[in-house]
Amino acid sequence: MIRISLFSKILFAAFLFVVPQASLADSQFADERSEGQQKSFSQVPFTQVSIHDRFWSPRLENNALHTIPVCIDQIENQTGRMQNFERAGAGSGKHSGIFFDDSDVYKAIEGVAYSLMTKPDAQLERKMDEWIAKIASAQQPDGYLNTYFTLEKPAERWTDMDKHEMYCGGHMLEAAIAYYQATGKDTLLNVSRRFIDHMMLRFGPAGEHWVPGHEEIELALCKLYNLTGERRYLDFAHWLLEERGHGYGKMKGRKWNPKYYQDEVPVRELQHITGHAVRAMYLFCGMADVASNVEGTGYMKALNSLWYDVTHRHMYVTGGIGVAYRSEGFSVPYDLPNREAYCETCASIGMVLWNHRMNELCGDAKYADVLERSLYNGVLSGINLAGDRFFYVNPLESDGTHHRQEWYGCACCPSNVCRFIPSIGNYIYGTSRDALWVNLYVGSDVKCRVGRQDVWLEQETRMPWEGSVRLTFKSGMRGKLRLRVPAWSDGMTVSVNGRDVELEVDEHNYVVLKRRWRKGDVVEMKMQQSVFIIAADPHVKNNVGLRSIQRGPLVYCAEGIDNAAYDSISLSSETKFLPEEDAMLGGIVKLSCTEKEKSFTLIPYYAWDNREATPMRVWFPWTGGELKPKSDGWSTLKVEIMKKSRWIDVTPKSQQPSL
Ligand SMILES: [Zn+2]
Repeated sequence: MIRISLFSKILFAAFLFVVPQASLADSQFADERSEGQQKSFSQVPFTQVSIHDRFWSPRLENNALHTIPVCIDQIENQTGRMQNFERAGAGSGKHSGIFFDDSDVYKAIEGVAYSLMTKPDAQLERKMDEWIAKIASAQQPDGYLNTYFTLEKPAERWTDMDKHEMYCGGHMLEAAIAYYQATGKDTLLNVSRRFIDHMMLRFGPAGEHWVPGHEEIELALCKLYNLTGERRYLDFAHWLLEERGHGYGKMKGRKWNPKYYQDEVPVRELQHITGHAVRAMYLFCGMADVASNVEGTGYMKALNSLWYDVTHRHMYVTGGIGVAYRSEGFSVPYDLPNREAYCETCASIGMVLWNHRMNELCGDAKYADVLERSLYNGVLSGINLAGDRFFYVNPLESDGTHHRQEWYGCACCPSNVCRFIPSIGNYIYGTSRDALWVNLYVGSDVKCRVGRQDVWLEQETRMPWEGSVRLTFKSGMRGKLRLRVPAWSDGMTVSVNGRDVELEVDEHNYVVLKRRWRKGDVVEMKMQQSVFIIAADPHVKNNVGLRSIQRGPLVYCAEGIDNAAYDSISLSSETKFLPEEDAMLGGIVKLSCTEKEKSFTLIPYYAWDNREATPMRVWFPWTGGELKPKSDGWSTLKVEIMKKSRWIDVTPKSQQPSL
């Protein structure tokens, strides 16, 4: 058992701060990078990252042992998704399921591709080859590929922009690229490219208009551009983005709702988030990808406005987004009900994908902070510990009736988890001309190129339970090592070869270490993981008088099963928190808490609903009195956080309870 510091800190998180709205646009974005600049860094792809991590390795293992088999079983045996391809290939039969079900097959292939990198499996690879042959057989002579339209409505192809034809094509392309990168096999890649060629023949500056009702193809086209270097793919992605906001959207039988489809104004004019959450995230990813490659798109200004709007007015403390009663999308600012939260697992995955791109572009740790928040809370809660049950909706409060399921009629979330978890290697490291960036703390080996040098670095860590990280150079490197300082880090020390170094933290919250690195050099980081009491912006009516708890990147919750007095749990400045290692729930650090005479136990939010069904909550009544935003400390802190757009910061020393 480890016993960690026994104290808490009062904290007000910026994610829900009151902000005078009109002043934002002028002050917030003035210093943002101009268009068309190089990325601050490029991700080191999963193919060059080998993960060996106490927290993540079991998850990768479970993904391979349980999640992927569940997806394969559903696709082949339970739902007829694979049979749709067989029938389309044979040219006869009915389509079964929903019109976008092809996309689940593609996402499963993408997940398998990532998984094969860490866990080679010849039998599984053979199965994917069989699937890919069936997919190829369903491709029409003109390159078109969508089993729903081929089997049901061949005459109605490309007549309804909400029917996800390009969305499915985008997922096929992402699967094809991942499978090619993992295995070197290009059958699916060639099939995908033929489908893209088909689209580009029909749509474009010289062809028909098209507004993809569910974005996805844009980011996939940019991946294809990055893989092939063929500019026409990038141009097509750019053209598709530019189609939005001009009234071209249409669908059959129902009226197109531009707000829902992010089609109200040209994308460069977007300032506030609207509509369907997952679609919005994929759109922003596509915009970021195009902006990083094309001069003068005007997208970065829009993306920064949107980022501020999402993270400060529409994001839950778990990094989830979307409200249940708003058609899988956004409500008015600060409307963040806990029990009726939607927080679709796919939307949290979208937050990771988008924030990762923003960090690549701007090199600012604030994006990695949001990425990490969504990852360790909103995404991970989407799957149970065994890896075979899924949440579609991730509320922050439950009466004990909300449970994970083995599958869903609309199975976007299970298949998305299946491809996301094993891709975690994509988010850890980045490289720029003269630096190696460490963005996430996950035990792993990375082999990459920095400038013209081959670099090999090993990372060992006990994250997310303890903020200790040890980096060992397995090769030399001339250049900088840039280490992200997480927003939750409450004090940090860094040593090189056993000697403490004076910390040089840049304006974007990266520690910059520069020296001529030699093989065998060891960098050790120690980040203090305090327990933070978090208050929401007072505009969030649902959380007035409530507080939540975070330690490291993890948001904590209480479940009825651990707490006989569940209904009477409350927090105050007197609450004591004792972090304790416990073997339950796959091995966690739980918080054993005492509040006056009462005691209660908190567990990481991601781990809830893995035992007997009982109620759960993230926000608790606060009996310690309101901390008014009027105090000097608050004002200073608020201004400071706004300037940095940082998500967590401690109150000034005078307000901190002492040990
Ligand atoms: Zn989903």
